[in-house]
Amino acid sequence: MAKMLYPEIWNGKTVALSDGHGIGTPGKRTPYIPELGRSIRENEFNRKTVAFLSEILLAHGFRVLLVAPTDQDTSLRDRTNAANRHNADIYVSIHFNAMSFDFDYSRADGISTHVYLGNMKYMSGDLARSIAKYLKQGTKQDWRGYKENNFHELRETNMPAVLTENGFMDDRREALLMIKESYQIETAAEHGQGICDYFNIAWKGANVTEKNWLKRGDTGAKVLEAQRDLKELGHYKGELDGSYGPATEDAVKSFQKEQGIKEDGIFGPNTQKHINAAMDKYTAAEEDEKQMEKNLKETGFKDVEKDSLLQKEITKAKAAGISVGVGNGMFDPNQTITRAEAAALVVRGVEYAMGKEIEIE
Ligand SMILES: [Zn+2]
Repeated sequence: MAKMLYPEIWNGKTVALSDGHGIGTPGKRTPYIPELGRSIRENEFNRKTVAFLSEILLAHGFRVLLVAPTDQDTSLRDRTNAANRHNADIYVSIHFNAMSFDFDYSRADGISTHVYLGNMKYMSGDLARSIAKYLKQGTKQDWRGYKENNFHELRETNMPAVLTENGFMDDRREALLMIKESYQIETAAEHGQGICDYFNIAWKGANVTEKNWLKRGDTGAKVLEAQRDLKELGHYKGELDGSYGPATEDAVKSFQKEQGIKEDGIFGPNTQKHINAAMDKYTAAEEDEKQMEKNLKETGFKDVEKDSLLQKEITKAKAAGISVGVGNGMFDPNQTITRAEAAALVVRGVEYAMGKEIEIE
């Protein structure tokens, strides 16, 4: 369900913003980054940048339509339908690019803007040029150019639409930019300035970093972002409505209590720091869990990956009832066995080969 954010005084224009993919969309992530102990999902960059850009646009009088404001995966069709239904004036989709899923084999880096086939000569092209003008002035990155593509978000939108790729997830340097707040803010500001130029609206600056404190009564994209994090971490049960009411305040207090920090119900920089750390852990744990579910389906054991050493033998041994693991779906493949267990394995194997029924207690 899309969400409209309203400025204090409307300048008459509505900007639809898309954060590209859901947080759980398969494949949309960096390779594993040893120094972080995890990979970074594309949506981590996209959604934060969209949140900052929303603040910037609201401050410049735009209505902002978030076409995918929740963590449920929103289909591309739902995103473009929402923009069309609300008659958005433009549609901007924020992405991070990828070539392969390996830092060592990828040879691509840099930024690009994308419009629908043949549209560079129309208004989408004007919007792309406006945004690119500022993207090129920020952090030094290769400029890959204006591209025309048959992408759903570009094709199915009734208004000028631009998709931006703000770096490569499989370029080591750019991957780390994804979770740098200063890069997210910079990218948001560049988009904001380009959008203001496109509509001939005077640029007043980004100023999002000054809004470091959220408290009861505040509204907007940063409140929404806090609610999303608190919800994922199990502290917020209310609606994701972007307004800091009693339920949000209680959730902040509950999180602060858990973290052993000051329980003032105010979402300041220290609370943000703890949220970031908790979200890092949460993301890593969630990824492990997903991998284990995948393993269970593919190999019969949560802790045996497909194509890992002797996986086929392990799976066969299970099917034959020769070796069934240690319970709870685990096999413990690297655990050593005792001489007694080895004897049992050999006997079961021989009995199996002789066609006897095997009993395992
Ligand atoms: Zn993407």
